Amino acid sequence: MLSLLSFMALPRVAVLLSTLLLFSPASAQSIKSLDDLFTLKAGDSKGGCDKYKTQLTAFLPDIQALVDAGIEASDPSTGAAIQNNKNAITNLFTFYNFEFDNDGNPLGKNKNPTRQEKSRLGSIHGTFNDLKLFLENGYTAIERLENTKPWLFCDSSWLEETETAYDEDGNPEQNTDTGAAAGSTYTVRNIPIKDAQGKQTDNFELYSEFQTPANADPDNWDKYAYYSPDFKLYMSTPKAARALDNGSGGRSWCNGDVTEGPSDVPEKRRYGITTEWMASATITLCPSVFGSDGANWNTLNDMKNDARSSTYGTALESRSIKAITLMHEMIHLLKGNDDTPDAATYSDGVLGLTKDQKAASRTAASKNPDTYVYFSLSYWLTKNIKMPAPANTNNAPSDIDWSAGVSKGEVRPGPVADSGPETDGDQ
Ligand SMILES: [Zn+2]
Repeated sequence: MLSLLSFMALPRVAVLLSTLLLFSPASAQSIKSLDDLFTLKAGDSKGGCDKYKTQLTAFLPDIQALVDAGIEASDPSTGAAIQNNKNAITNLFTFYNFEFDNDGNPLGKNKNPTRQEKSRLGSIHGTFNDLKLFLENGYTAIERLENTKPWLFCDSSWLEETETAYDEDGNPEQNTDTGAAAGSTYTVRNIPIKDAQGKQTDNFELYSEFQTPANADPDNWDKYAYYSPDFKLYMSTPKAARALDNGSGGRSWCNGDVTEGPSDVPEKRRYGITTEWMASATITLCPSVFGSDGANWNTLNDMKNDARSSTYGTALESRSIKAITLMHEMIHLLKGNDDTPDAATYSDGVLGLTKDQKAASRTAASKNPDTYVYFSLSYWLTKNIKMPAPANTNNAPSDIDWSAGVSKGEVRPGPVADSGPETDGDQ
């Protein structure tokens, strides 16, 4: 999701923000609890997660299952044996544009093995491994989190647009101007940024952000202030990225503007955002993740039991589980927003990204969170769901290939030149 915002802390601390937006292995290692992994905002308002806690808890084993699938499918030490794993070969080709020689070496330009491609595969594998490390060992295992537990919010209303100027303790600044009404408070527009002696106040940097250029029209400032009572910090947002007032409360990121997502999806919604603060990183899941606006399935198991998961011609997108938004945001969290730009979203988007087979597209895919999500989902599906043999035969159940974005009757024996997303199945 877009990266238009920047954070400012109170006082004088400029912080970077960039944004954007499961169940089966019996042998799975134990994972940390939700509360071990995140500081969950309590309650049901201002981003509180209480009413979603059961759903969130069920997300974790499903993310673990997808991560384990991703680790297995991207292992750079597989060597020649990768040629026997058609599921890995096909998905590595369509999602990340890898091709391999008979010894399992990734091929670069001119179809020769290259160190760059080997290292790209290793880095993709490393991202999946970081997710595993986080799930199983917690935030202390991730160096870039600096021993600071990330927060998890279940709506962006923990950070709402405000005109009020708050002090460092989170209290409104009392207006001390001569002639000011008793009990009145300053706004971020009118609070003095210099004291009576002309010296800049502690909050000079922050408030000057909101006071230029001076403007009488409240809907025409360059920047708008978003305040977090939990962190006692402001986020400064350019006018173009200002959240919509949708009539259901304050202006906040999850309310839109709702312009993201594929153009053929009528209800484009915001799902999640990750921020990197000095105090603590945060993940915000929007309410749309948890309800009927979100992905189709609550768990991998529910999805697996749906008949269309073992039917040809089913869209990969329709197999999405609600946990994938958290997995997507966890990639931003663990690798950093700067190194994980959202180049494409949704299954058709990520498959389209590598269709031109250009080096720049390969690089973009290797950093793109949704590529990780749908790559691992596609691999997991083929591995865990088979097509039953026709009745009255002794045939074994057969593989279902999801690597082109739709379920098909066979896992192809190797990469083919034109294997982008298709709109319907071939059987
Ligand atoms: Zn994102």
